[in-house]
Amino acid sequence: MRALRLHGDRDLRLEEMENPPHPGPGEVQIRVHAVGLNHIDVWGFRGMAFAKRKMPLVVGAEAAGAVVAIGEDVTHVDVGDKVALYGARTCGICRACVEGRDNLCENVGGIMGFHVDGFACDFVNMPQRLVVKVPDEVSFEDAACAPIAFGTVQHMLFDNARLEPGESVLVHAGGSGIGTAAIKMAKAIGCTVYTTVGDDEKGEKAKALGADHAINYRNERFEGEVRRLTKRKGVDVVFEHVGADTWNGSLLCLKRGGRLVTCGSTSGVSTTMNLMQLFQQQYRIFGSFGCSMRNIRESLDKMASGLTPVIDTVFPLEHFAQGLERLESRKVFGKILVRF
Ligand SMILES: [Zn+2]
Repeated sequence: MRALRLHGDRDLRLEEMENPPHPGPGEVQIRVHAVGLNHIDVWGFRGMAFAKRKMPLVVGAEAAGAVVAIGEDVTHVDVGDKVALYGARTCGICRACVEGRDNLCENVGGIMGFHVDGFACDFVNMPQRLVVKVPDEVSFEDAACAPIAFGTVQHMLFDNARLEPGESVLVHAGGSGIGTAAIKMAKAIGCTVYTTVGDDEKGEKAKALGADHAINYRNERFEGEVRRLTKRKGVDVVFEHVGADTWNGSLLCLKRGGRLVTCGSTSGVSTTMNLMQLFQQQYRIFGSFGCSMRNIRESLDKMASGLTPVIDTVFPLEHFAQGLERLESRKVFGKILVRF
């Protein structure tokens, strides 16, 4: 089978590999059809000195495919089913796993495509508990956005920030894969959505998705604009993933008692913050990473009911690195996928 393997920093090769063996008990074999690209792939590609990982490494952390073989005792899915794949090797038996807080697994065996082999290959074996059946009406491309992009946003907005209908939310980088998903999900429950974008064209696209206000952060300070638009009240929730460049501005956008949820730091990992402001304004700050299996099911249900991902580009497998470049370029509006 074909597999896209990373041999060292920025050294990605399309190679032939042995197919995986027939799936063992409780395992299923999946023919991968689409892989979603995410910032974690960019970190992996560039290399992270502190990350312990095997090399060469099959890349790809987010995917969907079709079940082609099942092992003994497989009951959740059958041959021919369309499935989305959970991208972390959770243990399935610790307290967090048993309680459905999969992304807090105490014995996680690594993130697929980052620490251990991922999904950018023709066939992969997975434990049945880490695959989620995809509704018929959802395409492979859309389903490939469920395990990380949609799942992460679902977890951030609804499990962590507990966004309620009628509330206001500021979504940073409204053109990103998760930004586009956050705009659509927040709008779908009747929230007022403010979003930041890097150019006016993206602003128009974000509005077409349902954003009520798009702020071009290159022309104006977003925090001033959000405070002006909310008549100085601020928003209930800020959806952060930009990091150092926006962190303090994001806090200034919050109402008293507002919630900030973050899953990324693409502009830098360190910042200073005013602790007096934190406690006096009674902010609540949530770190969020990944999602639960339930969040993937919720995401697929949303897709089936018409809340589909915004897809920027679909590249063929051999252009995975080009996809990463596009992801880094910030020209992107929506998700970048690789199709098999
Ligand atoms: Zn566990």
